[in-house]
Amino acid sequence: MANKKNIAALLRQVHEMTSVLDNIGSYVYCKDLTGKYTYVNADVAELFQTSVQDIIGKDDSHFFDLNVLDELVKNDRKIIFDKVSLVFEERNLIKSTGKVHTYKTIKNPIFNEIGEIIGLSGMSTDITIQKSLEEDNQDKKHLFDVILNNIDAYIYMKDAKRRYRYVNRRVAELIGLPAEEIIGKLDTDVVSPSYADHFWQTDKLAFERNEKVVINETLESPDKKTQHYLSIKVPFQLRGDMRTMIAFSTNVTELYQLKEKFEQLANTDVLTSIYNRRYFFDNANREFNRAKRHQQALAVISLDIDHFKAVNDQYGHPVGDQVLIKIAQLITPTIRAEDIFARIGGEEFSILLPNISLSQSLQAAERLRDLLDKNPILINKNIMLSITISLGVSVLKANDNCFQDLYARSDSALYQAKSRGRNHVYLIN
Ligand code: GH3
Ligand code: MG
Ligand code: MG
Repeated sequence: MANKKNIAALLRQVHEMTSVLDNIGSYVYCKDLTGKYTYVNADVAELFQTSVQDIIGKDDSHFFDLNVLDELVKNDRKIIFDKVSLVFEERNLIKSTGKVHTYKTIKNPIFNEIGEIIGLSGMSTDITIQKSLEEDNQDKKHLFDVILNNIDAYIYMKDAKRRYRYVNRRVAELIGLPAEEIIGKLDTDVVSPSYADHFWQTDKLAFERNEKVVINETLESPDKKTQHYLSIKVPFQLRGDMRTMIAFSTNVTELYQLKEKFEQLANTDVLTSIYNRRYFFDNANREFNRAKRHQQALAVISLDIDHFKAVNDQYGHPVGDQVLIKIAQLITPTIRAEDIFARIGGEEFSILLPNISLSQSLQAAERLRDLLDKNPILINKNIMLSITISLGVSVLKANDNCFQDLYARSDSALYQAKSRGRNHVYLIN
C-alpha cells in the first residue's frame, strides 16, 4: 500500500517535472553513452518536427546536418570521457527547416547512484535573435567607427563633468594618447590645463544654451602655428545618463588664410601696395562716426603729384608707375600706425589722421611736402626726377554730417594749393 502511494507520488513528480521542462522555453534533453536520446522535452520534438517517442532511442545523425554533427559528437564525447561540464555557443543547421540557429548550450555528465557515468544532459537556449541583434550592433558600431575615424574632423563627446565619453582617431592623435586612455578621463587629465580650459569655454556653451553652438576656435599648434577651427557643439542627452555634448571641429586654417588673403587683396592698391580707395572710404566713414561720437579730432590730407602728366609724357607710362611706387614708399614710413594712407586713384593719395590737432595736421602735411621737395626720385638707377606734391588739409568740424563733408574740404584745399603755384600746403578750416 505504502509502495503504491510512493509510486503515485513519484509519477506525479515526474509529470510535474515534465510539464516544467516542456514549458521552460529551452531545448532540454538527455542522451545515453552511445549518443541515443533517452529524454527530450516538447521543444526538441517541435524543433525536429516529430514526436517525442520518435526521437527517443535515435542519435543526432537523424536530426542534424553532417557538417555540425562532427562538432556535436566531439563535444558529447568530451563530456562523457572527461566527465566535465561544457558551456558553449553553437550554430546548428536544422535539417527539417534548413535554418541556422545559434544556441547557448550547457551540457553535464549524468552519473548513476554509484558514480558511474551513464549519459549526459543538455539544455540549449535559442539565442539566434539576441545574437543577430548583437551582431547588428557590432556592425553598426564598426560602420560608425569607420566613418568617424576617416572624416576630416575632430570629433569628441564630453559630459557635463568634463569627462571624455568618446574621441575619434584624429582627437586621439592630437592629444597623443590611444582613445581607450582618453575616454573616461577628465579633459584636464589628458590635455594641458590651458588647452583644456580653452576648449571647455566653448564646450560649456552647448550645455548653457542647451542648443547647437557654431563657433570659430583659434589655437596654437605644438609647432607654434596658429590654427583656426570651425566647431559645432551639440548638447546630447544619453538615455538615463548625465548631460553630454558632442563636438565636431574642422581645421579651416587654409580657408581662413585664403579669406585673409582675399581681404588683403580687396583692400590693397595693386600698383603701390598701399591701401586702396575702397579701404580708405570704408574706414574713413567708421572713423568719422567714432570721432563724432567721442568728440575726438580727425583730419584728412589729400595730395596730388604736381605736373605728373609731364613725367609720363617725357619718360613714358612705366616710369610714371615707378614714380608712384617710389612716392608711396617714401611716404609710408612717415605715417603713424593709426593713420590710413591710401591711393585714391591716378596720382592722388589721401591720408586719414585720427586724434590729431589742426596745427599737428598742418605740420604733418608740411613735412610731406618738404620730404618730396628735398628727395629727388631715382628711377632705374639713371633717371633722377625732382617731384613735388600739393596738399590740401581739412579737420573735422562740429557741423560735419558725414565724412564726405570733411573730404570735400580737403579736396578744395588741394585745388587751392595747386592754384597757389603747387608744392604748397593749404588748409580749409
Ligand atoms: P597737376 O599739377 O595739375 O596735378 O598736373 P598733373 O599733370 O599731375 O595733372 P593731371 O590731372 O592733368 O594729370 C594726371 C596724370 O596722371 C594724367 C595721367 O596720365 C597720369 N596718371 C594717372 N594714373 C596713372 C598711373 O597709374 N600711372 C601713370 N604712369 N600715370 C598715371
Ligand atoms: Mg597731378
Ligand atoms: Mg590729379
